[in-house]
Amino acid sequence: MAQEATTETAGKLVIRNIGLILSGMLERPILDGDAIVAIDGKIAAIGRLKDLDTEGARTIVDANGATLAPGLIDSHVHPVAGDWTPRQSQLNWIDSSMHGGVTTMISAGEVHTPGRARDIVGLKAMAIAAQRAYTNFRPGGVKLHAGAPVIENGMVESDFAELASAGVKLLGEIGLGGVKDGPTGRKMVEWARKYGIQSTIHTGGPSIPGSGLIDKDIVLETDADIVGHINGGHTALPDDQIRCICEGCKRGLELVHNGNERSALFTLRTAREMNELERVILGTDGPAGSGVQPLGILRMVSMLSSLGDIPAEIAFCFATGNTARMRQLDCGLIEVGRAADFVLMDKAQHSPANSLLESVRLGDLPGVGMVIIDGLVRAGRSRNTPPATRIPAVIAG
Ligand SMILES: [Zn+2]
Repeated sequence: MAQEATTETAGKLVIRNIGLILSGMLERPILDGDAIVAIDGKIAAIGRLKDLDTEGARTIVDANGATLAPGLIDSHVHPVAGDWTPRQSQLNWIDSSMHGGVTTMISAGEVHTPGRARDIVGLKAMAIAAQRAYTNFRPGGVKLHAGAPVIENGMVESDFAELASAGVKLLGEIGLGGVKDGPTGRKMVEWARKYGIQSTIHTGGPSIPGSGLIDKDIVLETDADIVGHINGGHTALPDDQIRCICEGCKRGLELVHNGNERSALFTLRTAREMNELERVILGTDGPAGSGVQPLGILRMVSMLSSLGDIPAEIAFCFATGNTARMRQLDCGLIEVGRAADFVLMDKAQHSPANSLLESVRLGDLPGVGMVIIDGLVRAGRSRNTPPATRIPAVIAG
C-alpha cells in the first residue's frame, strides 16, 4: 500500500538463518555468513549468528534458508505523481515493483506528466516539485529519486546552479526535450556536473512520437554520466554504434527491460570482452508504451544470466552494487553502514533447479519472500512473483 515517507526508525533488526548472502559486489558477489544485524535502517554487522550481538532486537526475521540480496535498484523510471502513471492509466505501479524486489528507483525525467512545462522556469519548477513530492511520499516505501528536468535550449549555467541549490540531483534523459545535439548537450552536462547533478542521455531511436534519434556521435560528444538504455528504448542503434559507445567512453551502460533484448545481450558481451562489467546497470524504462513491469528488473537479471551466460550472483550486481556505485547511492551493497534495504528470495516452487542461483541461470524468475527497506519489513511473500519455495517469517517485532 502506498504510504508517506516514514519518520519511524527501525530500531534493531536481526535477520537469521539466511541461506546465502549476495553482496552486490562484482569482486566478491557471495559473502560468508547466515545473519545480518541492522540498527535504525543501516547495516551494522554481517556474519554468523553466533558471533553477532543480537541483544535487544525489535524485529527478528527468520529467513528460513532463503537468499538475501541488496534491494534491487531500477536505474530508469518515468514517474509522474504519487503511485499513478497516465502512460497506461495505472495505479500502484511503484508498490507493485517493490513486490518485484525493487527498493530504489531513479527518475529519468517526469516526462509523462500531462501538460509538462517546456519553458525554462516551468521545467525547473516541475523538477523541484517532483523532487519534493517523492521525498515526502514513498509508495510501498520505495526510495524514488525524482526531480529530473529535461534540458531545453536556452538554459544557462545559473539555471543548473539554481536547480542544484534547490535539491535537484539528476537530469532527465537528454534528447527528450529540445536539446538533441552534441555541443549543446555537452555544455549543459558539464554545467550539471559542476553543480553535482548527474546526467543520463536517451540512446537510440525515438521512444514515442515527439522524441528523437540520438546516435553514437551525440552520445559520445555529450558525455553524460549514464548512457541511458544503450539497448534502445525500444529502437536500438546498430551493433557497431553500440560497440563504439562502449569503447569510446567509461560511462555507465544502462540496459533496460523496455529495450531491445538482443542489443542488451550484445552490450553485455562487449562489456565482458572489455573486462568492464562494472559499467553495466539495469532499468525498466517503465512506465512506457510497453507498459509497467513490476518484475522487470528480475526479468532482466534472469534474461542476462541465462542467455548472456553470466553467473546469477554477478547478474544481481548489475541491479544492485553497480548501480549504487555508478549513481553514488547509499544502498545496493551488503556492507556495514549501507542502507538496510534487502530482498529475500528463493527458487520458485517447482523450478527444476537445485538452488536460487541455478534457477536464475536456467532463466526462471525467483520467488520474492520478503522486502525490507530502511530496516523495516515492507512486504512478505510477493503478490507478483511465482511463489518462493522457502518463505522468511517475522518471528518477533
Ligand atoms: Zn529514453
